[in-house]
Amino acid sequence: LAKANGRNCARLFDPNDPQSSDESENIAALLKIAIERDLVSLVFQPILSVRSGQVEALEALMRLTMPDGTAVPPSLFIPVAERTGAILELGRWAIRTACGELMANEHIRTISVNVSPVQLKAPGFAASVAAALGEAGVPGSRLAFEITEGLEMEMHSDVLRCISDLKLLGIKIWLDDFGTGFAGLSWLRLIDFDVVKVDRSFLHDCVSPRGQAMFRDIVGLLRNRGQKILVEGVESEEQMDLLRKLAIDLAQGFHVGRPARAESFRSFFPPSRRQKALGNPL
Ligand code: C2E
Ligand code: MG
Ligand code: MG
Ligand code: MG
Repeated sequence: LAKANGRNCARLFDPNDPQSSDESENIAALLKIAIERDLVSLVFQPILSVRSGQVEALEALMRLTMPDGTAVPPSLFIPVAERTGAILELGRWAIRTACGELMANEHIRTISVNVSPVQLKAPGFAASVAAALGEAGVPGSRLAFEITEGLEMEMHSDVLRCISDLKLLGIKIWLDDFGTGFAGLSWLRLIDFDVVKVDRSFLHDCVSPRGQAMFRDIVGLLRNRGQKILVEGVESEEQMDLLRKLAIDLAQGFHVGRPARAESFRSFFPPSRRQKALGNPL
């Protein structure tokens, strides 16, 4: 079976293959066996306080590998998982795994987990999160959920109720990819976000004066609303300087740190704490 699967999946990336229209079928099949076969994992990317330079949080990012070891990018498998409903089980797995890391490493303040609208609409989601926290003995305040503004996510009353249930558990709610959709501003009006993550495209556009003006406008708008601001996609020291100049709260990007396995994120922590962390079994 492993071999057959491997062969099917290998077609995923061949655009000339007549079978490549089956790509999402192949991914759907892979997702069904991903957890039991250990094909899914989490990597963690550090989020820094711009002022102190300390790691404030880690973002958990899901990875999927085919049985032959080839990586499938989230931009391919997350939409399929949302369409087939596999995201419900994968999402529960991600939250349980994140809680396990929080339990094993008391010096990690917060882990943020990306949560799909499909999960927020599913009955019993908040209860399943409460169960995961209880099992790990971790307070909800150490968990943040990142929600992406998107057209598909109309302001469902179920979603708003779910978000308020999560907040009652102490979970922080972050708005991801701010500025990429059309609904961002209405979201800000309806939900009290603990952090807003400004999409990396705005920082990257700062190479032109117009782009930089736009970036400052967005930062100004969020600041006027008293919003804690995280800027994504920091790839250079120049960009980091701009964030310091604009007194941005939090920074994330390849320049700060690449997503890495749990075993290596200990190096993100200062030596005294790191020493302690090394004594903890994962
Ligand atoms: P996101 O939540 O906005 O995650 C940030 C993405 O930007 C990650 O891509 C990360 O690797 C990438 N990134 C970080 N720093 C930089 C940088 O400096 N430059 C550039 N160019 N990119 C940077 P990744 O891991 O491929 O994830 C893509 C998207 O897939 C995520 O975007 C998120 O929407 C989704 N995703 C990932 N894991 C999960 C998950 O567990 N559940 C759900 N529902 N969605 C997930
Ligand atoms: Mg995110
Ligand atoms: Mg996202
Ligand atoms: Mg993002």
